[in-house]
Amino acid sequence: MKAFYADQFVLPLPEGHRFPMAKYRLLRDLIASHWPEVALQQALPASDTELLRVHTPTYVQAVAQGLLSPAAQREIGFPWSPAMAERARRSAGATVLAARAALAGEGVAANLAGGTHHAYADKGSGFCVFNDVAVAARAMQAERRGLRVAVIDLDVHQGNGTASIFRNDPTVFTLSLHGEKNFPFRKEDSDLDVPLPDGCDDNTYLYALDHALDELDRRFDADLVFYLAGADPHEGDRLGRMKLSFDGLEARDRRVFDWAWQRRIPLAMSMAGGYGRDIATTVQVQHNTWAVAVAYAHRWHNRRP
Ligand SMILES: [Zn+2]
Repeated sequence: MKAFYADQFVLPLPEGHRFPMAKYRLLRDLIASHWPEVALQQALPASDTELLRVHTPTYVQAVAQGLLSPAAQREIGFPWSPAMAERARRSAGATVLAARAALAGEGVAANLAGGTHHAYADKGSGFCVFNDVAVAARAMQAERRGLRVAVIDLDVHQGNGTASIFRNDPTVFTLSLHGEKNFPFRKEDSDLDVPLPDGCDDNTYLYALDHALDELDRRFDADLVFYLAGADPHEGDRLGRMKLSFDGLEARDRRVFDWAWQRRIPLAMSMAGGYGRDIATTVQVQHNTWAVAVAYAHRWHNRRP
């Protein structure tokens, strides 16, 4: 299994900033020690051409040259720095590489970061600068004519940027399960939105997910799946407001990987959000997600024609 990372670009965040930047490196170390068969590669940056298929020239230039207004930086939640611009580009690049690997026969591949689904065409928001999944979806469609892409976004927050970018695009199906009362407070219309209540538990969540995957199946034929495996629906998350257990989240991951595997649809995963009161909780959820991902990557490798 191939996995791509960009955690060497650590943002210089102010003391006490609530974004858990350290989780990326912790996850990479865990993967390296548990699964030597996972080929960890440093991501290449997404090119201007790739970014401009999704983002406006003004916005791409503002990020590249440090021209974001103070208000735009506040909405993103990170102060601009050269490392911030480079990391955003590499994180989008990691998802491009993961998608390409998944489609090239790997079946399952991943970005160790990404899932920056609050980024719109013309602005960033909520710790998201560029929309990695949108950039990768368009990159794969540029390489393979007629490719149909499903985005399964199970981060606890709605994938508003992704929904907005693909609003009028019948070749990309956007599915988002999210907290109805949680950020972003103005939602966009995905192809399929499943709003869930505060305090949502394992059973409620998994029941809703089963129905959503059935509906996705009825409405769309996908050639490629992007999976945003947010850790923030976990009960130990500071921002999630849901009550999913470790087992519930692992069952969630299994359903998504199994859904794609049963249909032999290649899957590229991004990790998306995770803000555990204890960072170890977030990393544990992601570790469990990786155990599922690695198991399904083995199935792809072992399959007989
Ligand atoms: Zn989130």
